[in-house]
Amino acid sequence: MKKALSILLVLVLTAVSVLPVAAADTVCSCGRAPIVHVNGLGNTVYDGDDTVFPPQGGTIAKTVFTALPLLPALLRGSLNVRQQERALRAAARIFSPIAFDKNGDPATPAAARFSYPKSIAHENGEPITFDYDWRLDPFVVAEQLHEFIQYVKEKTGHDGVYVVAESMGAMILTTYLSVYGTADVKGAIWMNGAYKGVASCSESYSNQNTFSADSFYAYLIQQTGVFGNSPQLCDLFTGLYASGLLGSVLRSVEKAARQLADDGALTRFMQQYLGRIPGFWGLVSAEDYPAARAFVFPTAESQAEYAVLLERLDRFYNEVSSRVDEIMIATKEATGTIGVICGYGEVIVPVTKDNARQSDSVILTEDESNGATCAPLGETLAEDYVQAVDDGHDHVSADRVIDASTALFPDHTWFVKYAHHGVHYRPYALELVQSIFYIDGFDVFSNPEFPQFMVFDARTDTASPLTSDNSEQKTIEPGFAAKLYTAAFRVIRVFTDLFH
Ligand SMILES: [Zn+2]
Ligand SMILES: [Zn+2]
Repeated sequence: MKKALSILLVLVLTAVSVLPVAAADTVCSCGRAPIVHVNGLGNTVYDGDDTVFPPQGGTIAKTVFTALPLLPALLRGSLNVRQQERALRAAARIFSPIAFDKNGDPATPAAARFSYPKSIAHENGEPITFDYDWRLDPFVVAEQLHEFIQYVKEKTGHDGVYVVAESMGAMILTTYLSVYGTADVKGAIWMNGAYKGVASCSESYSNQNTFSADSFYAYLIQQTGVFGNSPQLCDLFTGLYASGLLGSVLRSVEKAARQLADDGALTRFMQQYLGRIPGFWGLVSAEDYPAARAFVFPTAESQAEYAVLLERLDRFYNEVSSRVDEIMIATKEATGTIGVICGYGEVIVPVTKDNARQSDSVILTEDESNGATCAPLGETLAEDYVQAVDDGHDHVSADRVIDASTALFPDHTWFVKYAHHGVHYRPYALELVQSIFYIDGFDVFSNPEFPQFMVFDARTDTASPLTSDNSEQKTIEPGFAAKLYTAAFRVIRVFTDLFH
């Protein structure tokens, strides 16, 4: 009887262990493992049928209505205690619907919504997109990615996947690899990746933001280029800048922001809202994390109050952000298939001290490339500059702006000039991604169409190899209306200067 039972037990155990394999639709023989695309930050957050983030018209109107009486104080660059409370109330209108609790978990029913694809085509290298709620702890999202990869394996009948991770997704991929390793991963690409911190986030959390009129203007003009080269907007922005109004307002805003930080109001705001969202903490660089932690949770009391959250954030710092290179190198060694794709030649969101550095408009090129040497924006490497690491290849760009030899993977890092962040996942990028994954040993020397340095043309939506002839961007020039705007804004500036 005992023996019969144990045989039965063995049979049951065998059946159970075989079941997941039997559940796979079929074993696929196409020879091309599916590509999972880990999306960037951008999923809409819903509460029931309502969109709560990004904020909609009604919420924005209420926020403006609450904040409007603060305008004179803002122009003065100084808010009293009552006004500071009002500023916090205005911000709360945007952030309370998506608020998190003190432990870093959602405190409202609001969530990003998405579902798994029912059928998956993958034979032509179509990417299968993984979406997630960007607010969540990266370790929670990494677990969801793990489940998604199991689903894709089962649906396609492959024993592993390739992963291309874009923007914030690159931070999720790095977190995933730190936990699950490469058992299910045949290769990985970090594309326009936010895996070494995002300066605007890092510096906001560590209270290092700076604002300059020059960078704001350069950034605004760049945006007009991105969104259809609007000469009208160019004239308007030029008027704002040339009249000195932009600089005048920014000086006040910076003064007010510094005062909010010094008075502790910014710390209170962070503790209540942004500082509780672990997803954003995932964009704080390892370098800035200690300062950010100390700014948002400065006292022993606040550290005790947020102990569970801090344990999560410290885990991310200890296991992921401070170990990025190690994780990437291990992935390369295990899979042999790796790529890094980044942008340069763009002005970064103008709230950081890094405004003169190369970026793809959101992330610094040095961070995206994991260590390339970059000339300041608008400049080239010195005339007598010699490639930093001599590995027998030429790794300096034709426009002499980038030296890729100092990047973590010099032979597997691609740079696309003027490829604006978030408009990067284009046909050419997909072709490059597929080449990296499906062609054995593909690197920056494998295909003359995909050399280390390329240039993106927004008008044709294509990228071509960078040469010394095609590296200059066609910029938009202000017209006569800019002079009219300048004159008009000078009058307003006289008025706003009265507040200083
Ligand atoms: Zn297949
Ligand atoms: Zn090389």
